[in-house]
Amino acid sequence: MEPISNCTEAVTSVFVKLLQNETKNGHLDQFVKGLGRMFYIIDPSDTTFKDQVPNFYRNAWPYFLLFILIENLVLYLDKKPTFRLNDGLTSLSHGLVQECGRLIFRGAESYAYVYLYENFRIVELRWDQASTWYLAAVGVDFCYYWVHRACHEVHILWAQHQVHHSSEEFNLAVGLRQSLLQGWCGFIFYLPLAFAIPPTHFLTHQQFNLLYQFWIHTKAVKTLGPLEFFFNTPQHHRVHHGANIWCLDKNYGGVLIIWDRIFGTFAEERKNEEIVYGLVFNQPSFNILHLQTFYTAYVLQRFREMNCWRHKLAAIFYGPSWQPGRPRLGVDEDKFKVVPRQKYDVKLPLWCNIYLLVHFCIVVYGFQELASRHLVLNPVTVLAFVIYIIASLTSIGLLFDNAPYACIMELFRCMVLVTALQKLEFKDVDNGVLVGCEALFVLSGLFWLLQSVKVLQIKEI
Ligand SMILES: [Zn+2]
Ligand SMILES: [Zn+2]
Repeated sequence: MEPISNCTEAVTSVFVKLLQNETKNGHLDQFVKGLGRMFYIIDPSDTTFKDQVPNFYRNAWPYFLLFILIENLVLYLDKKPTFRLNDGLTSLSHGLVQECGRLIFRGAESYAYVYLYENFRIVELRWDQASTWYLAAVGVDFCYYWVHRACHEVHILWAQHQVHHSSEEFNLAVGLRQSLLQGWCGFIFYLPLAFAIPPTHFLTHQQFNLLYQFWIHTKAVKTLGPLEFFFNTPQHHRVHHGANIWCLDKNYGGVLIIWDRIFGTFAEERKNEEIVYGLVFNQPSFNILHLQTFYTAYVLQRFREMNCWRHKLAAIFYGPSWQPGRPRLGVDEDKFKVVPRQKYDVKLPLWCNIYLLVHFCIVVYGFQELASRHLVLNPVTVLAFVIYIIASLTSIGLLFDNAPYACIMELFRCMVLVTALQKLEFKDVDNGVLVGCEALFVLSGLFWLLQSVKVLQIKEI
């Protein structure tokens, strides 16, 4: 019993300290509002904007981490399996990759929406009226249902969305596992809203819709009673992430589950059937670059394999299970029957996991620095930093896989980092941090040099 109570005390004291800090700084109100936004419990008058929309999603990362901590505490107390470092950091890495995409694209996928609204809107809804806020909330959620459904029913869109389904776990971190190009998959589906809903409302609710979808990725919440009828909940979303045949193409809703009930895609969780999470054909990899891209390569391969143009187009735009001579979404007889299976895992020594966790935290720190100043940097510099972040996360994933050339890639990454820290000027960054990072990367580089020439080797356990 003792470790459990110690753990509870530690987490409670962190939570209490956080609250005390927020109260002292007069930020308790902000904290509670931020918490409310995670569940779409929001005062419209607080979140109605004429011109600029705050970045609610990026500002929610502390809540994401706090929720992940609480989820693991609940699972631990319940004696259920908790966060696996390799799978969990892979999920968080995909979340960072998506944030990197946002820094590069700078909301360009929404330009068509703004253009349509400014030139072709057919009604003039007042931006400062609560009814516009509510209409936008429902409108965005309705369109999200169709975006999400298309992402499962159109092969080339699934090539991106499958990233979100690529974990064999079902936990809050999976809620952050997204494709770099996910935003581009859906923008067309939201365009009908541009004939009425002001862009600021659209951008605000798109973020709230996404924030709501974070907390439904958990096994820690069993059922929410009558709320299950109207809202998308952990119970409904568990079905959506299942690879079992009865789970496929079900429960697409974002906030409301009623769209699935109306359009015939709803499935109830089955009490006596274990849900197998992940892709039907699981990828044994923690390499984020591979997980982000392998399916697009597969779609192109399918395109080349078809011998007439009708089939080639079908290979791109029909469902992932489509076969020539079959209906658009394929038939169940052709689908692979997934049964409970062993999860992909590579057991590394403790020191290696600590190394990877520390370097992951440094990448997160680097991302934060980039995100806070990307608007004043030139686009080439932003792109270079983004490439560094994606390469670093890929290297971390390869080490989690214990892939044959991972240590050489990590050595190369450390050398590039040391060179960059010496040659580039990092204004506004604390000198102590820079020196500390340089020393860590020099030591890490030396270590991986010894690994690369086989003086040392990682032994899986
Ligand atoms: Zn999905
Ligand atoms: Zn999901």
